[in-house]
Amino acid sequence: MADLTKEQANQELAKIRPQLNDWRDAYYTKDAPVVEDNVYDKLYNRLLELEQMYPELVTSDSPSQEVGDETLPDFNKVTHDIPMLSMGDVFSEAELAEFNDRIEKNVGHEVDYNVELKIDGLSLSLIYENGILIQGSTRGNGTIGENVTENVKTIKDIPQKLSRPLSIEVRGECFMSKKEFLRLNREREAEGQQVFANPRNAAAGSLRQLDPKITASRKLDTFMYTIVTFDDLNVSTQHEALETLKELGFNVNPTAQVTTGLKGVKDFIERYGQIRDELDYGIDGVVLKVDDLAIQQTLGNTVKVPRWEIAYKFPPEQAESVVREITWTIGRTGVLTPTAVMDPVGLAGTTVARATLHNEDMIRQKDIRIGDTVLLHKAGDIIPEVSQVVLNKRPADSVPAEIPTHCPYCGSELIHLEDEVALRCINPKCPAQVKEQLTHFASRNAMNIDGLGPKIIEQLYTKKLVQDVADIYKLTADELATLDGFKEKSINNLLTAIDNSKSNSVERLIFGLGIRHVGAKAGRILAENFGNLDNLMSATREEILEVNTMGEIIADSIVTYFANEDVQKLINELKSVNINMNFISSSNSNETNSHFTDKIIVITGTLQNHKRSELSERLENLGAKVTSSVTKKTDILIAGEKAGSKLTKAQQLGTQIIDETTLSNYLDDAKE
Ligand code: NAD
Repeated sequence: MADLTKEQANQELAKIRPQLNDWRDAYYTKDAPVVEDNVYDKLYNRLLELEQMYPELVTSDSPSQEVGDETLPDFNKVTHDIPMLSMGDVFSEAELAEFNDRIEKNVGHEVDYNVELKIDGLSLSLIYENGILIQGSTRGNGTIGENVTENVKTIKDIPQKLSRPLSIEVRGECFMSKKEFLRLNREREAEGQQVFANPRNAAAGSLRQLDPKITASRKLDTFMYTIVTFDDLNVSTQHEALETLKELGFNVNPTAQVTTGLKGVKDFIERYGQIRDELDYGIDGVVLKVDDLAIQQTLGNTVKVPRWEIAYKFPPEQAESVVREITWTIGRTGVLTPTAVMDPVGLAGTTVARATLHNEDMIRQKDIRIGDTVLLHKAGDIIPEVSQVVLNKRPADSVPAEIPTHCPYCGSELIHLEDEVALRCINPKCPAQVKEQLTHFASRNAMNIDGLGPKIIEQLYTKKLVQDVADIYKLTADELATLDGFKEKSINNLLTAIDNSKSNSVERLIFGLGIRHVGAKAGRILAENFGNLDNLMSATREEILEVNTMGEIIADSIVTYFANEDVQKLINELKSVNINMNFISSSNSNETNSHFTDKIIVITGTLQNHKRSELSERLENLGAKVTSSVTKKTDILIAGEKAGSKLTKAQQLGTQIIDETTLSNYLDDAKE
C-alpha cells in the first residue's frame, strides 16, 4: 500500500466516495440500508486510510468531513447552534490504547473515563424553556436537523415538563426495543410491507414521520446522555451530568461507570459484549468519554467528531452456512414468506438452521440461490438473517431461486397487491390460511382458548370437524374423542376453555376475526368506543375516523371487512352460539394494556427497587402468571443482578430476558 501513488489513491477515492454516499443516503435519509454496517465501515476506513496518506486529496464533501446526511424535504428544519457531531470509532484494543495514549499525551496525565453503552438508535436533541419541552429534533447533517417536536411528544419516557423550571438543551438516543422491533416487523410482514433492517432503522423510520399518529403507534424509548447547556447546573463531569438528567426526569441508561485510564474499560467491553443479546435494546459498542467536562472543552472537536470520546465497536456476529432449500409459509392474511433452510451453524449463542428472507425482493436483491454459501447475522440481535452471498463460493451450475407463481398450499395464482412487496394468496378458502386464522382466533391475545393450538387445529381441520371459527363452538365431546391422545380430562378442559371464551369482552373477538390492520390494541379501542359489535359493523368510515387513533387505512379495512356477506353470515353464526358481542368495561375485564398481560414470567437474581412478593402481585394484577422455573412455556425472565442458572436456561431457550430498568419502564407504561 505504501507504494500507492497519489494518482492511484485519487482514482480509488473517486470510486469509494460515490459508493459511500449512496450507502449513506440509503441509511440516513431513507432509513433502509443496503449493506451491513461492517461492509460500510470497511470501505469508510479505507477512505480514511487513503485520505491520511494524501491529505491534499480530502474534499470538503468527502464522507469523512460530513456528519449524517441530508434531512427529508417535507420536515421543517431546525439549526443546531452547537453542532450535533458524529463519533470516532475503533475496532480493536490496540486502537483503544492509541486513543488513550493520545488523550494522556494531550492532558499530561491519566484521565477518568465515563464508560457507557453505545445505544443503537438515532440521536435526538430536546430543548426546554422554563422546564417545558418546546422542541425535539434529529441530528440531520449535524448543523441542520428535522423538527420532530410533535412526534417526540408521543414518546412516553420523555418528560414534557422537567422537575425544575430550567432552560436547557439535552441530547441522547431515541431507540426501539428489540421486542417492539419484532412486533412491528411481524405486523409489517403480515401486511405485505417492507420490514425494517434493524431496530436503529425502525426507530429512525418511526420518529421521522410526518404524521405523529404513526409515531405514537410505535413504541419508542430514549436514553439521554448529554447536557448541552448547563450554565445553571452544578455539573462538572459526565457522570454528574447523567445523574442530573435522571433527577430532571429523563430516562438514563443505568449501566454507565467511571474508570481511571483503560483499567476497567476492557472488563466493561467484555461483560456487555457477552450479554448484549440479553438486553432489551440494541447496542453496537461501548463509548468512552473523558469524564471531566473542563478537559473535554480543552480537547475540543475535529470538524466531525469530539476528540474526548471514542466508540469501541463490537465485532459483527456472523456465521457462514449453505442454503439447501427455500420454503414458503403462509400467514393468516395470505402473505407468503420465504425462509432459507440451511446447514445448522452456531451464531451468537444459538444454533441457526433457518433464516427469514422476508419477501421476494430480498431474494432478488441479494440474489440468494439454493447451494449458495451465505453470511448470516442476527437482525436486532434476535432474528437470523442473510447478510450477503459469498459469491466466490457459488457453485458453477447455480441458477437464480425460483419464485412461486401459485400458492404451494391451494394452487391459486399468487398476486402482489398494490404497493406491497409481498406475494399473496387471495383464496379465502386456502386451507393453510384458514388454519392460520383459526390458530390466531384461539390465541392468547384473541379469544384465549387454552389448549387449542396449531397441532389440534390441524387435526380438527383435516377431520373436517372445524372449517371456520364458528365451528369451534359446535364441537362435541364425541368429536374431540377422535383426536390423537384426547381423553376425558383433555376433552373436558378444551370444552371448558371454549365455553369460557364465549363471555370474553368483545375486543378479543374483534382482534380474533383477523381484520386486516386491526391489532389487539386497535380492537380494544374500537370495542371501548363502539360498545358492541353491531355498532362497529354498522359504523361508517367517517364514524371510525372520529375515534382518536384510527387512521384511514384501518377505517377502510373495517368497512370493507364487514360489508362482506360471508363475514355477516359468520357473525350471525357466532351470535347463535352465544358469543358475547359487548364490551365489558375494563374494570370487569381481565384485559389490560401491559407488556405482561397473559405472559408466563419467572423472576430471578437480586432486584434493587422491587420486592419479589410485591412485584409478583403487581404482575399477577396485570394478568401475568408468575412461576418459579424456566421452561419452554416461559415468556419472560426478569433477571436482576447475579442471576444464575435460570438466566442460562432462558438464554438457551431463547426466552425474552429483561433487566430491572426495562421492567420498571414496562411497569410505568402498564395501565392497571
Ligand atoms: P455512530 O452512530 O456510529 O456514532 C455516533 C452516534 O452514537 C451519536 O450520534 C449518538 O447518536 C450515538 N450514541 C449511542 N450511544 C451513545 C452514548 N452513550 N453516548 C454518545 N453517543 C451515543 O455514528 P454515525 O456517524 O451516526 O454513523 C456511523 C455508523 O453508521 C457506523 O456504525 C456505520 O456502520 C453506520 N452506517 C452504516 C451505513 C450502511 O449502509 N450500513 C451507512 C452509513 C453509516
